[in-house]
Amino acid sequence: MDTLTQATLTQPKIRFATVWLAGCSGCHMSFLDLDEWLIELAQHVDVVYSPVGCDLKEYPKNVDVCLVEGGVANEDNLELLLQVRQRTKILISFGDCAVTANIPAMRNLMGGADLVLKRGYLELADDTRKLPHAPGIVPELLDRVMPVHEVVPVDIFMPGCPPSADRIKATIEPLLTGHKPVMEGRSMIKFG
Ligand code: SF4
Repeated sequence: MDTLTQATLTQPKIRFATVWLAGCSGCHMSFLDLDEWLIELAQHVDVVYSPVGCDLKEYPKNVDVCLVEGGVANEDNLELLLQVRQRTKILISFGDCAVTANIPAMRNLMGGADLVLKRGYLELADDTRKLPHAPGIVPELLDRVMPVHEVVPVDIFMPGCPPSADRIKATIEPLLTGHKPVMEGRSMIKFG
């Protein structure tokens, strides 16, 4: 009997979540590249929140492990991330956008949110020049896009754009048996 099977017999299932902030969803696509290992993973976890196949509106309490993709770019991202941190034991910064803010942070070079919106919706618009404004519907941009650890403490950093399925598995698998993954070496912490 392998270690994972033994653990399943002795431990309750892990409450598992994934969250999508300001990212392209490529990290979640890479998660789906786990292919048949997802079936094995499903025997060891309860997926309690995720944009992939479990689109609940409210992030639940008592989550054991959460993968957070993307930088923190708007007020919705910020609110969700604070809730995730409060309700999650192990928060994993998932992919380069979460770890460094990466591509979403390119807009930081332009200055604050007002300048970015002006450039995108007024100066570069071919037709209707109008700033988006729909309080309560379109979340306000933050002045700067931030990496996850600039907002809340992070337990594990998993870089990669996106992290490979092998890296994702090597990070999650030890957690299923109560161990911390070893995030060392090129195969685990190379960016890009
Ligand atoms: S790290 Fe790369 S793949 Fe992941 S969300 Fe950012 S741009 Fe997309």
